[in-house]
Amino acid sequence: MLEGKVAIITGASRGIGRAIALEMARNHAEVVINYNGSKERAESVQKEIEALGGKAAIYQCDVSDFAACEEFIQTVIKDFGRVDILVNNAGITRDGLLMRMSEKDFDSVIDTNLKGTFNCIRFVSRQMLKQKAGRIINLSSVSGVMGNAGQANYSASKAGVIGLTKAVARELASRHITANAIAPGFIETDMTDALGDQVKEEAVKQIPLGNFGRPEDVAHLAVFLASEQAGYITGQVIHVDGGMCM
Ligand code: NAP
Repeated sequence: MLEGKVAIITGASRGIGRAIALEMARNHAEVVINYNGSKERAESVQKEIEALGGKAAIYQCDVSDFAACEEFIQTVIKDFGRVDILVNNAGITRDGLLMRMSEKDFDSVIDTNLKGTFNCIRFVSRQMLKQKAGRIINLSSVSGVMGNAGQANYSASKAGVIGLTKAVARELASRHITANAIAPGFIETDMTDALGDQVKEEAVKQIPLGNFGRPEDVAHLAVFLASEQAGYITGQVIHVDGGMCM
């Protein structure tokens, strides 16, 4: 489905990003695995892709760093010659009640989740404009749509990702570049492992399908949005949440 395409996945060392990287490779894309701190885990994703017969390379970059993103994307373009798909998946949480939330915890979540998404789009878009084609897929969250107590920073960042996605979709549409957001609910990764048992039990009660999703549930949608078949879909927010938000 994605033969000849080069896909950059940010935060692909673990969780949803890892699953997206593997699913892109299964569909024959060449995969750029970005990571920040988990080098060994990024290397093992690369090995998994190579074992499938695919092509992948790993690149360290903190997506919150504007200058580092410029260098990262330029290096990828030099190494691969093109960029067809950008998945802005890298994300963090620093949960806490509003009254106790530090400035640092607010800023770091906005810088990684929202500014990191902007940074990568900023430097990839020039190449996509030259190619007159491209697919941008941004990871938002149900928290960005519904809000979530204890996540003022995260909800704001993920709502920001939705506004950014729609602006980018309008700005780049004339060059056949689509931009869409995926809004997952609760997916089984390190991020949700960190939640206490009581929080998980309460969360499951809000999910009509009755269980947390798997990273692959998100990865299948990402591959579809990256494909030729999704060429008439742009500016959308698509939920993968077991029916939590409808
Ligand atoms: P995760 O398991 O915690 O993995 C996070 C990934 O992001 C890691 O690969 C990490 O890389 C990378 N990352 C973090 N900060 C980074 C930075 N500054 N620069 C580059 N990479 C960075 O998270 P996940 O659950 O897979 O979530 C993936 C995305 O889906 C996030 O945007 C998250 O907000 C969103 N999401 C998740 C859920 C869920 O239930 N899990 C729900 C809704 C939305 P290193 O380990 O290499 O540092």
